Amino acid sequence: PYDVLIIGGGPAGAAAAVYAARKGIRTGVAAERFGGQVNDTLGIENYISVLETDGPKFAAALEAHTRAYDVDIMNLQRADKLVPAAQPGGLIEVQLANGGSLKARTVVLSTGARWRNVNVPGEAEYKNKGVAYCPHCDGPLFKGKRTAVIGGGNSGVEAAIDLAGVVAHVTLVEFADQLKADAVLVNKLKSLPNVTIHTNAQTTEITGADGKVNGLRFKDRATGQEQLVPLEGVFVQIGLVPNTDWLKGTVELSKFGEIEIDAKGHTNVPGVFAAGDCTTVPYKQIVIAAGAGATAALSAFDHLIRTGVP
Ligand code: FAD
Repeated sequence: PYDVLIIGGGPAGAAAAVYAARKGIRTGVAAERFGGQVNDTLGIENYISVLETDGPKFAAALEAHTRAYDVDIMNLQRADKLVPAAQPGGLIEVQLANGGSLKARTVVLSTGARWRNVNVPGEAEYKNKGVAYCPHCDGPLFKGKRTAVIGGGNSGVEAAIDLAGVVAHVTLVEFADQLKADAVLVNKLKSLPNVTIHTNAQTTEITGADGKVNGLRFKDRATGQEQLVPLEGVFVQIGLVPNTDWLKGTVELSKFGEIEIDAKGHTNVPGVFAAGDCTTVPYKQIVIAAGAGATAALSAFDHLIRTGVP
């Protein structure tokens, strides 16, 4: 069995792995996609001491740093079920979607989060037929075409700025009466000639024909008037959902589905710790996830020495 088994290989999981391995204890990481959300990120300018990098570079560095230690990396593995230890100090089991099972004395949950759906007619129907979630993956597919971004937070505004350099025109639709992104992003967005911003606007439908998106309908929340914007692509950027469905009923979750942790990364299950975007930690950022991963690994080590192992 592992001394520390980490589920998820984003910044939180990678940091946990490095911190655990440096204690000389048996460490494993099982991840659906090593690197996590960072793989879908373009510029990263807020990871302290790194002036500027990009997502794929950062993800590769995470993996290289983890591989520099004696860590079992099990990539493309999806965890399906957590079975707590039968008695105090016993082994915790993690069952995998491929039918396999891993056993460990402690577990760090760092499964991150994923994009939220807008849930309007047309979204599911035209997914990958004009409806997209990852501008860095799918942006180039809309080269020279008209697109919309739903959501005016950091992700939405970042996406709109990114897309504006590739596509013909970007319409940004935000439900609230103002954009919620950082001022520097909002200023940048407003400086772009091929961007139209609608605030106080509720998306009501993504329209299409012949199996492709052809428009986005929204309602002006002040006047109640509907408007149909003809376009070819819609990027949904309205927040993240924690990847914790598989833990329901086993680990205590918040009303948003985030794993409840204390300041040391403890969950309510003995020997099970959690870190990063999948938890109640305030602010979902790389540097925060990495710090939380370190905290969780040190707490797992503390648990091991207190329970007599190693
Ligand atoms: P994640 O990065 O989400 O990693 C989760 C890991 O768990 C992945 O390996 C995933 O495959 C795995 N996983 C999930 N479910 C399972 C399962 N059931 N079994 C096994 N493995 C599983 N932050 C910044 O600080 N600066 C930025 O500039 C920035 N820009 C961003 C831009 C975009 C487009 C996005 C999407 C995010 C951005 N973020 C940025 C946020 C940052 O990427 C996240 O806060 C950070 O990646 C969270 O790390 P994490 O390790 O908690 O989770």
